[in-house]
Amino acid sequence: MNIHEYQAKAILKDFGVPVSRGVAAFTPEAAEAAARALGGIAFVVKAQIHAGGRGKGRFRELPEGAKGGVRVVRTPAEVKANAAEMLGNTLVTLQTGPEGKQVNRLYVEEGALIDKELYLSMLVDRATSRVAFVVSTEGGMDIEAVAHATPEKIHTFSVDPATGIQPLHGHKVAQALGLSGDLGRQAVALTEGLYRAFTQKDMSLLEVNPLVVTKDARLVCLDAKVGFDANALFRHSDVAQLRDESEEDFKEIEASRYDLSYIALDGTIGCMVNGAGLAMATMDIIKLYGREPANFLDVGGGATKEKVTAAFKIITADPNVEGILVNIFGGIMRCDVIAEGVIAAVRQVGLKVPLVVRLAGTNVDEGKKIIRESGLNVIPADDLDDAAQKIVTAVKKEAA
Ligand code: GDP
Ligand code: MN
Repeated sequence: MNIHEYQAKAILKDFGVPVSRGVAAFTPEAAEAAARALGGIAFVVKAQIHAGGRGKGRFRELPEGAKGGVRVVRTPAEVKANAAEMLGNTLVTLQTGPEGKQVNRLYVEEGALIDKELYLSMLVDRATSRVAFVVSTEGGMDIEAVAHATPEKIHTFSVDPATGIQPLHGHKVAQALGLSGDLGRQAVALTEGLYRAFTQKDMSLLEVNPLVVTKDARLVCLDAKVGFDANALFRHSDVAQLRDESEEDFKEIEASRYDLSYIALDGTIGCMVNGAGLAMATMDIIKLYGREPANFLDVGGGATKEKVTAAFKIITADPNVEGILVNIFGGIMRCDVIAEGVIAAVRQVGLKVPLVVRLAGTNVDEGKKIIRESGLNVIPADDLDDAAQKIVTAVKKEAA
């Protein structure tokens, strides 16, 4: 789960990590009031969307040459005018895709005088099974481009969970970023604070780009992108509350509401399967017969009729889906429950593409009977191989 920059900064602040002072605003008037409350001689008005590259982004509704999603201005009146220009409009950045994202929230910050822009991120490194730091002196730009052009400018190291964070890790960060003296000491404290925030809040990603050295020699996190491990959210109700559903895809929201494991893919065959292993096998066999799966979807062991209906709606909401394969092994799950769910879903959302259903296991005969007697155009299949062939053939026939 991702959160907005201003929310991420509030969390970092709680762990003693230096961030600029700021106030979130939903209207131009509130943005102006925020600037007055902050005081000072420069303000930054920042679009809050779950995507980076805002500074270099473009508002679709504004003329060519208009400013992007991060604007440095001088007065509260300018804050208001810029807020009015940004709110409600669509910001297109390298990370939003061509459709862009509507800006509904702003963050008004006191402006920082920047001396140097650096890069720091943290992630869970699967190769070492540890939390890793990635740092570079090349901040403020696209880090993938830096990694590609000058890989030697990216430094990575991980923290042994048995020792936890130690001053030596902070010294590594300081050294890689060329910070010494008091700035080096700030880097050590920052590294420790970030690590505590990351581990205590069960983050999966924390990216500070840029981490800046200000003209008055302070180390400040000027941007913050944070993602959380969804499987640990149950123990962080404060974090779960920060969720902004308007930033998420309908399919993902529904999937998490019904506790379904759903991952969208590029293919054309929608899959509904119980069990991750069977779901993987189903995707493989679809490929074997010459098509690509449109998604991974594991409805889990004890799916209810409601869950199956939700899963079906998610699959049919994907415009790339040309055919659907339901493959259920009734172990804990009963085939008649699945059949009822599928039929209920088809009745609710309609069926515009071929549907193949393969059921096996507990109550399989009742399940098949429910489907047969539904009068709906469902193609029954006997085993996985048969099911994959049938859906691929049906999709090809439809296209012909
Ligand atoms: P992103 O484009 O979505 O990554 O948004 P950032 O928060 O990283 O802002 C983009 C750029 O705006 C930064 O790299 C800075 O160069 C600039 N910027 C952000 N905040 C300030 C500020 O307080 N003062 C100044 N001078 N520039 C800022
Ligand atoms: Mn940034």
